[in-house]
Amino acid sequence: MKIYNTLSGRKEEFVPLQEGKVRMYVCGPTVYNLIHIGNARPMIIFDTVRRYMEYKGYEVNYVSNFTDVDDKIIKKAMEEGVDSSVISERYIAECKKDMEAMNVRPATTHPQATREIEGMLEMIGTLIEKGHAYRAKDGTVYFRTRSFKGYGKLSHKNIDDLQGGNRSLLVTGEDQKEDPLDFVLWKPKKEGEPYWESEWCQGRPGWHIECSVMSKKYLGDEIDIHAGGEDLVFPHHENEIAQSEAANGKPFARYWMHNAFLNINNHKMSKSAGNFFTVRDVSEKYDLQVLRFFMLSAHYRSPLNFSEELMEAAGNGYERIVNGVGNLNYLLENAQDDIIVEKERELLAQARGYRAKFEEAMEDDFNTADALAAIFELVKFSNTHARTECSREFLGELKKEILTLCDICGLIVEKKPELLDGDIEALIAQRQAARKAKDFARADQIRNELLEKGIILEDTREGVKWKRA
Ligand code: AMP
Ligand code: ZN
Repeated sequence: MKIYNTLSGRKEEFVPLQEGKVRMYVCGPTVYNLIHIGNARPMIIFDTVRRYMEYKGYEVNYVSNFTDVDDKIIKKAMEEGVDSSVISERYIAECKKDMEAMNVRPATTHPQATREIEGMLEMIGTLIEKGHAYRAKDGTVYFRTRSFKGYGKLSHKNIDDLQGGNRSLLVTGEDQKEDPLDFVLWKPKKEGEPYWESEWCQGRPGWHIECSVMSKKYLGDEIDIHAGGEDLVFPHHENEIAQSEAANGKPFARYWMHNAFLNINNHKMSKSAGNFFTVRDVSEKYDLQVLRFFMLSAHYRSPLNFSEELMEAAGNGYERIVNGVGNLNYLLENAQDDIIVEKERELLAQARGYRAKFEEAMEDDFNTADALAAIFELVKFSNTHARTECSREFLGELKKEILTLCDICGLIVEKKPELLDGDIEALIAQRQAARKAKDFARADQIRNELLEKGIILEDTREGVKWKRA
């Protein structure tokens, strides 16, 4: 399996630190708003990477944080007159709903910055002890950037060409820095802001330290993969490397993966620029499975422009697979024969050739565009060879092939037919009749059948009420 490593600037064979295991950290969102589909890109991409690794038999420990202390969260909390945890907890819950709706699996652990302060104090203390950080007069603690020899190795920048002025430098006490390149590890509180006690001042962490600390705590000093959007390469990931390697004395992450931007009119989609669609907005117009398909239709290191035309195309592609599986389900329901014949076995062997193509694409730095093309070929093959006279086993195996590959992509392609209101009411009437006849087993069976299809029954004084889950 080859992965493009930002650190080396080339594709490398993936070799995990520990056989059969993958330790992976993905920088998550700052939670002060509903997530937009730009934020959804790394979620979908790295969820797919994780799924593929698991399919290959790796045990994946997948950690993704929520940044829940930040200027923007504090600003919103002040506007609403609530504690900043009210804002962050609200948007963490909303983010988790969006992830589920996009079929992005929850991480093994979703740590939150505000719950990991102790670890941050400890790492900052170590950095000061080792001479890699210092306390300025106002209590701010800075990382002494030039003390870390490898600074710039991820973003391929020469430290002497760098100037101060990046995101993390725009804070109070800047004039007290030894060097404009030094970045904040801990900063003094301002009026009305959340803060924690520390030996340097009452304050809160800088942005970068949380990821170094959470990664160490949940995955260990050295990890296999660290990932995020390409805007994080510099300074965030560069600073994470400096902090982790300086504190732990070990190499931090072996493979650095970065997705390119999701753009709109060829500009990066971002909250601050205001040119964004939330996942929630998009879900009103499109099935989020189509959004997922759209994200996977381009290689993750290529910029992707969001447009109606491309979403339409993604919708058509996705439908093609759904219809292919629907066709197989129809044939399976009506199949006569149980015994697979030789000719069918040969066809199945051919069908598995598409899986090999799929794997080849995924193992070439997760080329999901080519992987989807392999799924299309398999669906086309299935549409050509699946017939009413085919055996149930053959049809079932074909379906399994398609579903296995789609599941790696996190695509749900088997649609359960929706029950119409009339059908639901007819089933409720049957259940009432069964109860009247004291056939409670049948009544329960109907209730469970409905539940499986997302219909919840409620027995009230006024009779049976139902709702969709
Ligand atoms: P943020 O909340 O801005 O810290 O972003 C959370 C994650 O979304 C990070 O991995 C970012 O790199 C990523 N991200 C933000 N905007 C975009 C975008 N337009 N396209 C792709 N990734 C993005
Ligand atoms: Zn991070």
